[in-house]
Amino acid sequence: MTSSAELIELSERRSAHNYHPLPVVIHEAEGAWVTDVDGRRYLDCLSGYSSLNFGHRNQKIIEAAQEQLQRLTLTSRAFYHDQFAQFCAGLGDLTGKDLILPMNTGAEAVETAIKVARKWGYDVKGVEPGQANIIVMENNFHGRTTTIISFSTDPDAHDGFGPYTPGFRIVPYGSIEAIRAAVDANTVGVLVEPIQGEAGVLVPPDGYLSDIRDLCTAEGILMIADEIQSGLGRTGQTFACDHEGVVPDIYVLGKALGGGVVPVSAIAADRDVLGVIHPGQHGSTFGGNPLACAVANAVIEILATGEFQVRAAKLGEVLHTRLRELIGKGVVEVRGRGLWAGVDIDPDLATGREVSKALMKRGVLAKDTHGSTIRLAPPIVISEDDLVWAVDQLADAVYEF
Ligand code: PLP
Repeated sequence: MTSSAELIELSERRSAHNYHPLPVVIHEAEGAWVTDVDGRRYLDCLSGYSSLNFGHRNQKIIEAAQEQLQRLTLTSRAFYHDQFAQFCAGLGDLTGKDLILPMNTGAEAVETAIKVARKWGYDVKGVEPGQANIIVMENNFHGRTTTIISFSTDPDAHDGFGPYTPGFRIVPYGSIEAIRAAVDANTVGVLVEPIQGEAGVLVPPDGYLSDIRDLCTAEGILMIADEIQSGLGRTGQTFACDHEGVVPDIYVLGKALGGGVVPVSAIAADRDVLGVIHPGQHGSTFGGNPLACAVANAVIEILATGEFQVRAAKLGEVLHTRLRELIGKGVVEVRGRGLWAGVDIDPDLATGREVSKALMKRGVLAKDTHGSTIRLAPPIVISEDDLVWAVDQLADAVYEF
């Protein structure tokens, strides 16, 4: 087999440099563990940015995919197929919503939510054509399309890609007063990550999500929760909004919905909202394809048992208890919920990248986000012993600087 070094050299030479990967070339994986082309094993503490909540090659999901691959992979939405009804009904039941609109990537689902909110604003709320605005948060991450990066406050994501899409009002994350001040008669939606993942796993103040819910209800605005990274079991509940008993008007889902096998995303909303979309107004050739639906149906069945949510909550307590013990020992702050943590390393000691590399040498794969923050989000199938071992590796790695 070609060595890691050769494969990395060829990848760097022949690919656009839109990522800065850690120098590991993964060859196979199972559960929470991956093996590189040189036979070294690593504990995966990133989970494909929370796409692998149910573990690498989860057998139930793989069996569903294999069975589907033998029969039917693509029809386009020009026809019905036999996995589609169950997908929409199952995801509708999981979210408690009437209707589902399937897409592929997270960014497409966010775009879908934006289009639906605007259309709802014009058709139902009576906003003048072209005047709708949506309130979004500082330090948001919702994907990479030109419209989405138009309201990003991250210079890397935003700068140099104009002209930008108008119609967004950016307010500080965590301040209900800032949202209230930004609302006007043309506001159709508030788009929020219930926990800001890419920003460093920022958990908003208690009551923030329910305050947004109340404000949106009072003002006749759609609450749009981007649960692409926070949803589907990661935080110890099916949705991060559940921690405050909040039900948004639109759920935006992706990542783990595809079971770590195929890209599957969707928005879920009631008929009075999603009913504004009619044939020809939105779609995707691959959105809701048979393979995607078969895989997502297995994911939805797994989530319906509630086992993964309970496991993430229980292991999350272990993770956060252990991580908090590191505060003052090279760690400045720990945030997160469930099996999801943002760990701020003392910037005087090391960058997040340096710590990620040190962790890799110790057999743990984790990725930095923004400066000196390490994000930990292992597959929920991880064993408690492995989780404790990973935190020990972090403690030792930080200690070395
Ligand atoms: N929204 C959130 C909250 C995300 O974390 C991400 C990806 O990290 C996206 C949207 C974009 O998803 P995708 O990369 O599948 O387009």
